[in-house]
Amino acid sequence: MEYSKDFEVYSKPLLKAKVLKQVLVKHAAMKTAEDKFKYTQSLFMKYKMVRDVKYIKRAFQCCISLKDTKIRICGNEQFREKKYELAINTYTVCLMKGTPGTLNYALTFANRSAALFELSMYSSCMTDVQRAIDTKMYPSELLYKLYMRAGNANRLMGHSNLAKMNYEECLKHLVYAAMSKRQKTAFKTDVLNFIDMCNNMGNLNYLRINDQLPELLGGPNEQIPAFSKFLELRCTTNMGRGVYTTRDLNPGDTVAIDSVYICRPSLDSLNLCCYSRCLEVNWAVIPCPNCRLLVYCNEECMQKSYVEDAHNLECPTLIYAPTLPGKTMINLLVINWFFKAISQMGLDKYCSIVHDFSKTKLDLLTRGFNGNGQYISDEFLTNYSLYNDENNISSEVSFFFSCIATNILHCIIKRGMTIPKHQIVTVGASFLHMVKLLSSNAIKFRTSWGRWEEVFARGLYPSICLFNHSCDANVTSYVLDKKTVVLKTLQPISKGSQLCISYGLNFQNNNKQWRDLHFKNVLKFKCLCQPCIENWPTIRYTPNRLSTHYLLNPNMAYIVSLECKKFLEFQNTVAKETNFHEEEHLTYLINFAKFLFINVKRPFKLYEDCIDMLFVAQKTMLGVHKESPDVKSIINYFVRLDYL
Ligand SMILES: [Zn+2]
Ligand SMILES: [Zn+2]
Ligand SMILES: [Zn+2]
Ligand SMILES: [Zn+2]
Repeated sequence: MEYSKDFEVYSKPLLKAKVLKQVLVKHAAMKTAEDKFKYTQSLFMKYKMVRDVKYIKRAFQCCISLKDTKIRICGNEQFREKKYELAINTYTVCLMKGTPGTLNYALTFANRSAALFELSMYSSCMTDVQRAIDTKMYPSELLYKLYMRAGNANRLMGHSNLAKMNYEECLKHLVYAAMSKRQKTAFKTDVLNFIDMCNNMGNLNYLRINDQLPELLGGPNEQIPAFSKFLELRCTTNMGRGVYTTRDLNPGDTVAIDSVYICRPSLDSLNLCCYSRCLEVNWAVIPCPNCRLLVYCNEECMQKSYVEDAHNLECPTLIYAPTLPGKTMINLLVINWFFKAISQMGLDKYCSIVHDFSKTKLDLLTRGFNGNGQYISDEFLTNYSLYNDENNISSEVSFFFSCIATNILHCIIKRGMTIPKHQIVTVGASFLHMVKLLSSNAIKFRTSWGRWEEVFARGLYPSICLFNHSCDANVTSYVLDKKTVVLKTLQPISKGSQLCISYGLNFQNNNKQWRDLHFKNVLKFKCLCQPCIENWPTIRYTPNRLSTHYLLNPNMAYIVSLECKKFLEFQNTVAKETNFHEEEHLTYLINFAKFLFINVKRPFKLYEDCIDMLFVAQKTMLGVHKESPDVKSIINYFVRLDYL
């Protein structure tokens, strides 16, 4: 099974006692989460199954067990070898192990600023330079170097006035520098030259980043504010709950804007702010000084996360999080979700809500809606009611989830939280519910660097969860930033049709055999979309030529062939130019897609090509942060989003 390695942690003692088989059968036969939890808890005590190892684990760190000063030296070696990204992460780990206000802390900020400078991340570089200076611990004979770096960073960003001030500060500190008189004179000449450059270049005004959200088509939906008012929920026997449109839609219409409920980073990604209203990629982060596990852009994000994300409550528990079996991001989400909920409503109310929930039978069309008949992304029950099918998992995975829930609860109690005896089972059962729910509903954010792919965060977006999958998705998600996901139509959609996103595999690049296998093994469902039922060929085997076979209306043959010729020309000329104008050509692509949608039978190569180009054009147009000087953050920005 998927978790076999981690499952051993819990199954070993049971195997040894020769009871594993019985346990699995007995656990599977239990009807409620409360019974499952109670049973698992008794096994934990009897067979000593608890896992609570404290450990700060970070990937790719050769020197994690060393003292903070040694870690910094390791970072310096990586810097000398020009492995700047690695060095940045090593310095960040050094901050995690170190103590704020010490000399090593100051030196680490300074060293990291040098690595950031090498990667042209000038604004992050400036942040770290300022931090190094603010510690007041930085050796005065080295300060001139910091100001020089600050001057260069500001100059390269076009802030000539700021750069000049930095250079002047640099000259002031040059007297303390440990170098010969001749060296100092030479250095001074360099600095004066830079000041001259600044005088000549003027102040460059950067374009303001366009971070305005697109607007929902027709305004927000009354029942589901994250949706356009033209969407509605419907139930069918074979698809269950799904999202449908009440009017014709064009490609590019904004049909949903969902905001994150909870989100946690991978512990391997040291460049993502953990504050749920921020979630920005940031290479100059500071760690939470208590758990030393979560990182933030700055003090402000950290303080807000303490209050709004209840990080102050969850923080002590996190010391065990990296070594808990299972998926670390899911475990972190469970912990965060629980503390966020009790910080808002208190433990008593939490227990009564989750207990009531487990007792009520929910109607598919109203589950997740509150007393006012609304489905609100930021409400606890909306998220807690997300679809959670027990039948989709094997008895082993089901028992494993119970073990995780039991273990997390144990860790929380061990770290000082008091839960009254009569509420323990309710809380434990709610953890089991959350582990299952998150495993199938938490969206994965991926970055890809060439062939290497990494999931760097997972989050819960309850309104997006209402969309079903199709191997021919007509809606696609654009991750504006990790706290907001925008869904836009990708194809023309006629009134009354279902809107579907992709859970990862499309028919264009994956054949039916592979898709069937994947859906069966990973997503545990049978896909009933049109390409699956009609067994559409992949794009490679979809003929490029127009033949009468593809025409829905034979009378249109001449016009269709004319339009297709025009599109082929467009593909070969305009689309290949580097200065492709998204705004202008988007209209053409939308109209061509609509034209083919009405006139040709799919799959049709030119239609798929057109949709592909639409996707790229929309992404580029939505692409905020274009002017960011941090090159890496731009690349990180266009993450692929799916549920796998
Ligand atoms: Zn190392
Ligand atoms: Zn913390
Ligand atoms: Zn932040
Ligand atoms: Zn399908």
